[in-house]
Amino acid sequence: MLDFTHSAEATSWVLSANAPDTDFPIQNLPLGRFRRAGAKEAWRIGVAIGDQVLDLAALGQLDPQVAVLLGPLAQGDLNGFMAHGRAARIALRHALFTGLSAQPSGTASLWRAKAGALLVPQDEAEMTLPCHIGDYTDFYTGIHHATTVGKLFRPDAPLLPNYKWVPIGYHGRSSSIGVSGQRFPRPWGQTRGEGESPVFAPTRRLDYELELGMFVGVPNAPGTPLDMAQAEASLFGATLLNDWSARDVQAWEYQPLGPFLAKNFATTISPWIVTMEALAPFRAPFERDPLDPQPLPYLDSATNRERGAIAIALEVWIQTNEMRAQGQAAVRVSASSFADAYWTPAQLLAHHASNGCNLQPGDLMGSGTQSGSAASQAGSLLELSQGGKLPFALANGETRTFLQDGDCVILRGHCEAEGARRIGFGDCAGTVLPAVERG
Ligand code: MN
Repeated sequence: MLDFTHSAEATSWVLSANAPDTDFPIQNLPLGRFRRAGAKEAWRIGVAIGDQVLDLAALGQLDPQVAVLLGPLAQGDLNGFMAHGRAARIALRHALFTGLSAQPSGTASLWRAKAGALLVPQDEAEMTLPCHIGDYTDFYTGIHHATTVGKLFRPDAPLLPNYKWVPIGYHGRSSSIGVSGQRFPRPWGQTRGEGESPVFAPTRRLDYELELGMFVGVPNAPGTPLDMAQAEASLFGATLLNDWSARDVQAWEYQPLGPFLAKNFATTISPWIVTMEALAPFRAPFERDPLDPQPLPYLDSATNRERGAIAIALEVWIQTNEMRAQGQAAVRVSASSFADAYWTPAQLLAHHASNGCNLQPGDLMGSGTQSGSAASQAGSLLELSQGGKLPFALANGETRTFLQDGDCVILRGHCEAEGARRIGFGDCAGTVLPAVERG
């Protein structure tokens, strides 16, 4: 699975890609869709390298050898490329690596000579969703989150009996998914209220959820399930995902059919899709507690046990209005790891398709809130404030039980492993605006 593109020593002629703390060294090469900010030009596919974006449309015009590989990518269509699967991704990755490498070659010299036409600084680029997201499904693989939240909603039965057998999920809504930088008004909703009748008002318990987003690449035909190897091969890559949640609305509406308006008003993802190849050095064993039920055969494979999990360090940062006014940067409020997820990405896809449901290129799967076992690893305010009972202190002295207007929530993620170059996801930021006034 590892090749020359994973060499920790490899560097790029794009010097910012060699900074030790960059999210986008030459070993990463994530894909996104961009244009120059303020320009009315067409969206196109780019690759993050250091603090720059490599423009694949410009590259296709420059390099005929790479142009053949790009196909629909050169027209700004990521979905068509996603459907091709692993071999196409690897071919593109090899070509990008060679052209961007500090190692001298004809290709690298050609690209370097045309750097002015090929590269756009990231701070001059405007990002949009990386692909067309036809369907969005949100899972619930964070067992610590499920247990803590279950205790708040159902003290008598925190973890329902199906949790350890079936990857729990619900169908979300794709129309309101936005890219980092998304700003949305505090949603209105119906809540139980204090009196005899429910109340319709702006939510008072607005929260975030720290999740990983996984994109489907290779589709399966209707009626054709995926085995575990096919599910793994169908995965395209990952982003960070914030599943904003109105907890008071959720508590009132969620039974018997699950989340509805509490979660479909906004979902924010990071702009860059980190490919499965970039994540390869960070795969980890899937270990199920021997005292827990073991996965049914359709959710089990030797490869999945050996390296089905992915070790991704995840973080939540918050910048309040007051911090912004004082010129203070965002502060970190929690950190956890995707390695603690109860199910692996391949298990989620295999389960999703197990009834014959067809998955399509660009479909997005949320992992569910990733919280660790410690209180400081909680991936939502619902957990950090113990259901809103205990205000949570921010570093500047402010407190939060739930989000206030003006709060900007930033998710960050990165991967580190012995012998591998650190890679990251870039920011996934979203800001809460005041509720829209209505009669
Ligand atoms: Mn969620």
